[in-house]
Amino acid sequence: MTAPLKPGSTIGILGGGQLGRMTALAAARLGYRCHVYAPEADSPGMQVADAATVAPYEDAAALARFSAAVDVVTFEFENVPAATLEALAPLAPCRPGVAALRICQDRLAEKAFLEGRAGVPVAPWRAVETEQDLAAAVAEIGLPAVLKTTRLGYDGRGQAVLRTPEDIAPAFARLAPKPLVLEGFVPFMAELSAIAVRGVDGTTAVFDAVENRHRHHILDLSFAPARVPAEVATAAQRHAVRVAEALDLVGVVALEMFLLPNGELLGNEIAPRPHNSGHWTIDACLAGQFEQHARAVAGLPLGSAVRHHDAVMLNLVGPEGLARWDRLLGRPDVAPHLYGKAEARVGRKLGHATRILPRGALAAMTDAEALSGF
Ligand code: AMP
Repeated sequence: MTAPLKPGSTIGILGGGQLGRMTALAAARLGYRCHVYAPEADSPGMQVADAATVAPYEDAAALARFSAAVDVVTFEFENVPAATLEALAPLAPCRPGVAALRICQDRLAEKAFLEGRAGVPVAPWRAVETEQDLAAAVAEIGLPAVLKTTRLGYDGRGQAVLRTPEDIAPAFARLAPKPLVLEGFVPFMAELSAIAVRGVDGTTAVFDAVENRHRHHILDLSFAPARVPAEVATAAQRHAVRVAEALDLVGVVALEMFLLPNGELLGNEIAPRPHNSGHWTIDACLAGQFEQHARAVAGLPLGSAVRHHDAVMLNLVGPEGLARWDRLLGRPDVAPHLYGKAEARVGRKLGHATRILPRGALAAMTDAEALSGF
């Protein structure tokens, strides 16, 4: 077992977004410094970090200087090039490591991992490179189906829903020549996610599973805990823990799932980092996902993931989201968070707000009640 980082040590974070920012804030509370490495200056993470490196992810000299200045390296988004982590690995401990990153960067590797090593069922899928592959995949899986790029897709980008045979050629023309995957369309009742954390000694903790709602393909709301039967919630948590263990991961991992009408869960995506659907944990759990991530990465014992309140998290997206800020600030039951982004562009996540409710209250509330005032 690796010794825990001493207070005052420095956690290096690849990526300058809000996930790194909130990790740095949590790490500071535990007595650590953070050094953010990102290509963009004045990023949300850099604004709250002790040190910053503004350089491309491919800059070997900058990466070497960064590794010399930090005690451990983590990343806050999974599109950091794997080669960056590979360059850093001989120079500093990387948590999570490059193997976990690679699996989560590629939808084909991710699906094979989920249904193989992790034992989490997924929707039927086929790899697609050519139009012939796509025709064969559609013949096997049927329509409707979803065609996705295997890499660099997020918030619904790089996807097309195929409903009729006429949709096939235009979708292929739009998404090819990138490697693609065709998935069966899942008639889900709800989208759930669960966030697990695994420490350097292999111990795990898991937050309550939550129910997520999207708007324009971007997460809009998370309801914590998910209003589903207890056995479904437990299965969702178990799946997330299995993923953390099978990835041999140190840090936080989020598993997004579809809930079918028969109560079955299908894995959709893995994020080997803190996740938007876990922001509620900052205000409704003793040790939120960012603190857990910092603890794991620093080699500390994990904290308690127990939920002391129920919560509803609302993302503040674009100018429309920002327009709610003043009203949310005035509410005694809401914890508001802003990420320090200079431009309030449409579709950009600028902050979030977590409405805190007494533990157990959410189950008896309608959506309208849970969202009143949001
Ligand atoms: P993803 O980028 O894979 O997380 O997909 C973004 C969103 O598209 C998901 O949160 C779902 O709402 C929807 N979606 C993705 N894959 C499927 C599928 N196979 N069946 C139905 N809806 C899907």
